[in-house]
Amino acid sequence: MHNSLTNLQEIKEEIYSKNINDNNSVKIIAVTKTFKMDKITPLIDDGHIHFGENKVQEAVNKWTALKTSNENLKLHMIGKLQKNKVKYVIPLFDYIHSLDSLELAEKIFIEQKKKNKNLKLFIQVNIGNEKQKGGVNTEELFNFYEICKTKLNLNIIGLMCIPPQGIDINTYFSSMKNLNSSLGLEELSMGMSADYMDAIKHKSTFVRIGSKIFGDRV
Ligand SMILES: *Cc1c(COP(=O)(O)O)cnc(C)c1O
Repeated sequence: MHNSLTNLQEIKEEIYSKNINDNNSVKIIAVTKTFKMDKITPLIDDGHIHFGENKVQEAVNKWTALKTSNENLKLHMIGKLQKNKVKYVIPLFDYIHSLDSLELAEKIFIEQKKKNKNLKLFIQVNIGNEKQKGGVNTEELFNFYEICKTKLNLNIIGLMCIPPQGIDINTYFSSMKNLNSSLGLEELSMGMSADYMDAIKHKSTFVRIGSKIFGDRV
């Protein structure tokens, strides 16, 4: 069996065998950025559904034909999204995890209307309030959510974060869980190769795993 498929199956075993927090509902997004199709197709052939990319042009090249021939595939935009790329994202992707500004929200609203398609959206939260990192600050989150929902009628399904690395990771995950439930949201996008089990303990429903499935990115 191909390595990437073996790795995915080990991760599935780890996630679904333990009985924590309804973990049967956890979805694994295989993050395929920088990886070539020879590592990815074994997962598609095995029926894996959720895949994530962080660059629009790379995703268009890799996934346009595959998405047409395989209607079950779900594609997740997980990287920083420029406004001028939104028009390429709406037709190809099913989810955006990186909604992080009002300007981007308005652009998504306009392009979705043009294409008559509504994606499932996560608001990215800058949970560590880090200067260099994207995401809506926690103080602005409730107001931002209200505008997205009532004024723009966007389909916000949950919150997403890339927390600061370090020993406090569980504190950030716990804050995210609380913010998510105070907004009454169902889905939560957090946890990567190094910390997905911690994220699941805090009720993450979408984990985004790249290197632990496909190997190191070069
Ligand atoms: C690359 C990336 C991941 C996956 O990272 P790994 O550590 O390789 O699992 C998850 N989320 C985002 C937003 C990413 O850019």
